[in-house]
Parts: sequence; C-alpha cells; structure tokens
Amino acid sequence: MGSLEVLTLELSALFGKKLWHLEVPNKVKILLWRASLNILPTALNLVQRKVLVSAYCSGCRTATEDVIHAFWGCKRSIRFWALTSFNIDSAVRQGSFADFLEVMFLTLSDGDLERFVCCCWRVWKLRNEVFYGKTIDGLPEMIEWTMEFLEQFKIHNTRTEPARVPRFIRWIKPPSSSLLLNCDGVTRQAGCNRGVGGVLRDSAGNFIWGFADQGPAGLDVLATECAALHMGLLKAAELGVSDFLVASNTQEVVVLLKGSGELWSNLGNIMDDIRRLLAELCVNDVIFQPRSGNRVAHSLAQFGLREQHHSFWAGLALDWLVSLLVIDMEGG
Ligand SMILES: [Zn+2]
Repeated sequence: MGSLEVLTLELSALFGKKLWHLEVPNKVKILLWRASLNILPTALNLVQRKVLVSAYCSGCRTATEDVIHAFWGCKRSIRFWALTSFNIDSAVRQGSFADFLEVMFLTLSDGDLERFVCCCWRVWKLRNEVFYGKTIDGLPEMIEWTMEFLEQFKIHNTRTEPARVPRFIRWIKPPSSSLLLNCDGVTRQAGCNRGVGGVLRDSAGNFIWGFADQGPAGLDVLATECAALHMGLLKAAELGVSDFLVASNTQEVVVLLKGSGELWSNLGNIMDDIRRLLAELCVNDVIFQPRSGNRVAHSLAQFGLREQHHSFWAGLALDWLVSLLVIDMEGG
C-alpha cells in the first residue's frame, strides 16, 4: 500500500463521521480533505511536481510554503487567526495538518467546528489571492464575510421544500445532516459491456462526489446493480465516508441485502462483500428508490457504459449532471 493510501485509511477513521457530516459547503469539506492528504498546490508541492522552481512562500518570502505554513505559519494567516476565537499555538507547526485537525475535531463543538473549517477555507482563499496578486480585503471584514458565508449557507440549506405536487416520483432526500449514496448499473442488450455509476449527496441534494466506470463484463441486470453498489461502497471506504444511507432502484437488491440470500455471479457471491462493507461503513439503511428518483446515478452508469473507464468527480459535478441534480433538489 502506498503512503497516500495508508494516510487515507487513517484519515477515514477521523473524518468518516465528522468532516463529511458538517453543515458547511462541500467545497470547504473538500479543501480540508485535500489539505489533510497534503495534496493542495502549496509552493512546496508545486516544486515537487516541477511546476515551480522556488518553494518560498509568495506571501512572506521568509519560509518554505508547506500546508502548515499556508494555514498557520504565514504572517497573514497568523493575523487572521489572532482575530478569531480559535487558539492556534505554535506547537501546531510541529505536526501535520491532519494531526492538528484531529485535535480540533476532538475538542470543538459542532458549531465551532463549522466556523473553524470555514475560516480554514477562507485562509486558503486569502493565500490564493496573495499568490495571484489579487486585491485583499481587510482581515476583520474577511472574518465577518466568512461568518456571513456560513450563515447564508445554513439558511439556504434548511430552506423548506416548495409545496407542489411533483410530476415524477422524485429523489428522496435523506434526513437532515445525513448523506445518501445512489448507485445504478446499466447493461446493453447487445454485447457484454456494462456500466456502473453512483453519487453521494447531502440532505439538501448537494453533489459531494460521483463516479462512473465500466462494470464487470457479462453480468446480468441484477448482478450489475450489485456491482454498482459494491463500487459505490468501495469508493466511500476509500474516501473515508461512513454513517450514510444507500439507495437502489432495484427492489430485489434491497430485499437481498436485508435478508441473508446469496447472489452468485461470475464475481462469486458479491452479497457477502457488500454486507461486510455496509457493516464496516455503518450504513444506516438501504432504501428502495424508484428509477425516476435515481436519474443522476443512472446517467453516471450510462456514462460508464459509454466511456468504459473509471471517472471520478468531487465537489463540482459535470455540466450535464447539474440539470438532473437541480431537478432532484427542487423535488421532481
Ligand atoms: Zn508565508
């Protein structure tokens, strides 16, 4: 296993329950996730990727810009944090970003944690503004803006649904603060190619990530559905997501998963592995969702069938998915 994979597994335990469930915009969660994996484009990382020749911080020009420096060590970051109630002491600079975040996750209340991660996101945005030579707001205004940004997100996120009768049986939103993974598999009448796809969304219908891939060749319809679910669960495990809901548009899959039945295919008995993942990832329930409520996952599976390779998107969905996501958000 590579070091990134080991780190991913360690972070999974920490973030699985906390980070992905915070009520903050997904771009904030993804930034923190990338910072913890040390894959942000800091000067040091860009030098290692041979994009830059100097690892010096463009903000202060006195130190190497690694993740720790960008978030806590640079003079502007230090001044930013000094104006907040979060105590970022110098001991932080000894450990990794993930180590520090772990302490914050264990000690802060959910509300403080949400404000804290939004501040981290704003500090990185500030770093980019400096890096690209943009105009910089005053720090007090910047902090005020960050709190307002979080407030507005929360207002929008808890907006009540419009009272109108949906035209379709719609996508079922998961309960507040839970996440829902929709998966789907598609088969082509002629030929043995299969496609699988899946999407993870929050309770407001915001896209967190999605994948598309080819499915194992020659599976029947039911086994393809299971292969899609299997891949979705593996993706969740890889990304450290746990404690969520899963939806399938095949009643038989739901029944199989809730019972002890076996499904033998050319993959062997994939049910056992799916059940093991469901338990390990603390999946709260597997629900049935009619096909018309599973359009996003269906489109991703068709993409996988067409392209026959692995694709993954986090935070931002592709243009062709956005219209489907919006239909689900608005309720059919
Ligand atoms: Zn600096």
